[in-house]
Amino acid sequence: MRIVIIGGEAAGMSAAAKARRLAKDAEIVVYEASEVISFGACGLPYFVGDDFQDPGFMAEFSVEQFAAKGIEVKTGHRVSALDPNSQTITVEHNGDSFSDHYDRLMIATGAREAMPPIPGLQQQGVFGLRRMADGLALKAAVRDGRKQKAVVIGSGFIGLEVVEALVHQGKEVRLIELAERVIPDAFDSEITQHLETELREQGVSLHLGERVEALLGEGGVTGVRTNQGVYEADIVVVCTGVRPNTEFLAETGIKRLVNGAIEVDRQGRSSLPNVWSAGDCASVWHSVKQQQVYVPLATIANKLGRMVGENLAGAELEFPGTLGSAALKVLGLEAGRTGLSEKEAQQMGIDYRTVVIKDKCHTNYCSGQSDIHVKLVYEATSKRLLGGQILGRKGAVHRIDALAVAITMGVTTEQLGMLDFAYAPPFSRTWDVLNVAGNVAK
Ligand SMILES: Cc1cc2nc3c(=O)[nH]c(=O)nc-3n(C[C@H](O)[C@H](O)[C@H](O)COP(=O)(O)OP(=O)(O)OC[C@H]3O[C@@H](n4cnc5c(N)ncnc54)[C@H](O)[C@@H]3O)c2cc1C
Repeated sequence: MRIVIIGGEAAGMSAAAKARRLAKDAEIVVYEASEVISFGACGLPYFVGDDFQDPGFMAEFSVEQFAAKGIEVKTGHRVSALDPNSQTITVEHNGDSFSDHYDRLMIATGAREAMPPIPGLQQQGVFGLRRMADGLALKAAVRDGRKQKAVVIGSGFIGLEVVEALVHQGKEVRLIELAERVIPDAFDSEITQHLETELREQGVSLHLGERVEALLGEGGVTGVRTNQGVYEADIVVVCTGVRPNTEFLAETGIKRLVNGAIEVDRQGRSSLPNVWSAGDCASVWHSVKQQQVYVPLATIANKLGRMVGENLAGAELEFPGTLGSAALKVLGLEAGRTGLSEKEAQQMGIDYRTVVIKDKCHTNYCSGQSDIHVKLVYEATSKRLLGGQILGRKGAVHRIDALAVAITMGVTTEQLGMLDFAYAPPFSRTWDVLNVAGNVAK
């Protein structure tokens, strides 16, 4: 059996490693367009912010290590077409092309930055942040002491992490966001208002409800023009979302979501025979929404990648579902979210209620006591938890994992109020903030 995998990062390499262990006699070939494999892009903002210096820390395994396990990885090989009838792909390499046959195929081509349709993007000093090369280029620019004015466009997870990195590097940072608040798709306003205060207090110029119309400069960026003003800039980082790398499948008839992500079932199977997919190029089952959604996260790419690896080897595993659990650090604050936000519950037409509380992270006589904010979203009649958001200072974000378990197990707000969370004065209060939130919910 010949297993072919397109894309050699989180999803693709997780699948290859798992399939290798289970399908002992199969040939396994991975085609990767870039020269880097097994790369964790999540480290990029921290690399740029000088949390660590060696970019090699972000690439877990080499081509040689996979070869030693019996997985053939071909870097610099871009797959440009797929013929589902003959079960062949077309591969481009060094100006030549050839075709290859598969018995089972996994598409793990991930996503790339969705650049906004504005002039001036193709200039020196304008960056995206996705690949290793992007991180190296941005870090080199940041190190150039002559470049002091930075503009970040877009305030999603990556945009906010980049802002933090640039603040750590002593830059004058301006964040421009089209929506009326930061990171609006992941968090509700009761949480984002604190993130906005933190950004402003740490010296970030925050522009909300403002549309970037052009990047200025003649070869090297000098500024940003919006619908409200012109701002000087010598570094611009564009963080306006991602787009699945699935254009090469346009002629295949493969079923895709509106944004182009491959629609898969809970086993990771696409609508084409013998073709699976996972990661940032594919949909994922949402366990509260009970539908296929698009959530481009490393947690999902790794889990689904491994599961598809088993299925490529003959298993029929089903993914239990994502909650879209995610965490974020913005300067001195941490925020976590899981399940449905209020905005999502509204969009789904659910009869829901919410509770928002502010408490202290631990007992007052232990040092470092600070505020912690919790928002719960729950079903109005059954009181079953649907979603949660948390914001606070160091350590606060880990409580989101307890909420993820609670939502998965169908816990109600009453049960949360009495859940047996651990207590000692440096860690929490006798009634943990999650107990309090559960008890306050009506
Ligand atoms: C800056 C940044 C920070 C992040 N932080 C977090 C975080 O904190 N937590 C979290 O959960 N997630 C985070 N993510 C998201 C996470 O990195 C992605 O979800 C994950 O990388 C997806 O893995 P993937 O294998 O699906 O796709 P990718 O990592 O995109 O890899 C796909 C690979 O396929 C290759 N490819 C594409 N097209 C072709 C083709 N036609 N032929 C051959 N090869 C092809 C590409 O070159 C690429 O190497 C972050 C992402 C970024 C960019």
